Amino acid sequence: MNWEPVIGLEIHTQLATRSKIFSGASTAYGAAPNTQACAIDLGLPGVLPVLNAEVVSMAIKFGLAIEADIAPRSVFARKNYFYPDLPKGYQISQYELPIVGQGHIDIELEDGTRKRIGVTRAHLEEDAGKSLHEDFHGMTGIDLNRAGTPLLEIVSEPDMRSAAEAVAYMRKIHALVRYLGISDGNMQEGSFRCDANVSVRPAGEEKLGTRSELKNINSFRFVERAINIEIERQIEILESGGEVVQETRLYDADRDETRSMRSKEEAMDYRYFPDPDLLPVEIHAEDIEKVRASMPELPDAKRERFVSEYKLSVDDAAFLTLARETAEFYEAVVAGCGDARLAANWVRGELFGYLNRENRDISDSPVSAAMLGTLISRIQDNTISGKIAKEVLEAMWNGEGEVDAIIEARGLRQITDTGAIEAEVDRVIAENPKQVEQYRAGKDKLMGFFVGQVMKATQGKANPAQVNELIKKKLSD
Ligand code: ADP
Ligand code: MG
Repeated sequence: MNWEPVIGLEIHTQLATRSKIFSGASTAYGAAPNTQACAIDLGLPGVLPVLNAEVVSMAIKFGLAIEADIAPRSVFARKNYFYPDLPKGYQISQYELPIVGQGHIDIELEDGTRKRIGVTRAHLEEDAGKSLHEDFHGMTGIDLNRAGTPLLEIVSEPDMRSAAEAVAYMRKIHALVRYLGISDGNMQEGSFRCDANVSVRPAGEEKLGTRSELKNINSFRFVERAINIEIERQIEILESGGEVVQETRLYDADRDETRSMRSKEEAMDYRYFPDPDLLPVEIHAEDIEKVRASMPELPDAKRERFVSEYKLSVDDAAFLTLARETAEFYEAVVAGCGDARLAANWVRGELFGYLNRENRDISDSPVSAAMLGTLISRIQDNTISGKIAKEVLEAMWNGEGEVDAIIEARGLRQITDTGAIEAEVDRVIAENPKQVEQYRAGKDKLMGFFVGQVMKATQGKANPAQVNELIKKKLSD
């Protein structure tokens, strides 16, 4: 039997506001436990939540980016459940009337084709606190700092057909929220995580199979792993005549398996009702237009512009626009040296070589865009050759200073003085009569030998084009 996997993702992205969604408490990460949860975040009697206006603008931004309808009126609802890290006994979320309605986003598949993935909705909600199971012996610690942190939950249609598609979609949403500046997307800190809903059905069948929901996965690699393992598990059950039960499962990265947490709750279990403490959110056309005017260029548009404006290959353009920081870095390098092609090669090839080796972000590259731009200019104005430039880049990476200072300090300036190069060429020709004879007898390949000798004598500093030209001229005399 041929099985078709079906996947839908619920992505929780933390919105990058400084204060919480309904209170003035700080959202800064890493504070001592329970120092950033105020009475409102805990829902103590007598307090009233007040909506942070910024989260509304951020949700609208996201909605516009995925070409979704923005609800003119959306409503906060209480989702009731008991858990130690939720002292209020309910989470404020949106249920029937979410702020962002149906939209879509295109993903690029490995074979180069594009696929459109539907987004069902995106709604605002508050995060719960955090249970710390590892830190205390025989007890669980509760840190409520995260309670009330603003989240945008982005729910996809069950449109993905493989783990690879799900990861491509997750990456695309990740890049988008970072481009929009509405989330830092930091996965280690839990600012971007997802629940993956997975089912399988016989190929050709329309009806969806029973799904399981894999909870709270916070890395792209784990999402791919968890989904693949879950697909296999479900197929095995079905092929041995069993039935998949609808449940919530946990992916355990250490054991590389998924296991059952609880049977899946239905919406009615939560007793949703509109929160009586919060007014409905009304959004007018002017509000939307104001946000639209502040939208940055989006990843797809930027990629297309890089192809048309800078004449880059689609592959280079896709690489350089994957993250907004990379795109901005690249454009600053282009501005510094004026050569889009060279800039792409140096950023993607050389600089990312260093960044990947040391697992660093471009935002903390020790070589700035201005430095790289100057370096490329020094190749263009013949101060150094491309080969020597790699040596200068290494020195800059190691903190030895600016381009020109390194070139001077290390004596790397290219020899363009024709007289000096000519002297070396003459010497090499005089010292190698046998090779000269063979070359003149037609052994063209020896050209490389002569050039190599001159470059060696000048420690790579002679201008290669001049060397070539001079040798050719001398040997044809
Ligand atoms: P909840 O998980 O809150 O009960 P939904 O029914 O809205 O919510 O579905 C959540 C996610 O599960 C959505 O992303 C949806 O696309 C996906 N989904 C629903 N049914 C299936 C299925 N049979 N197989 C795979 N994914 C599914
Ligand atoms: Mg769910």
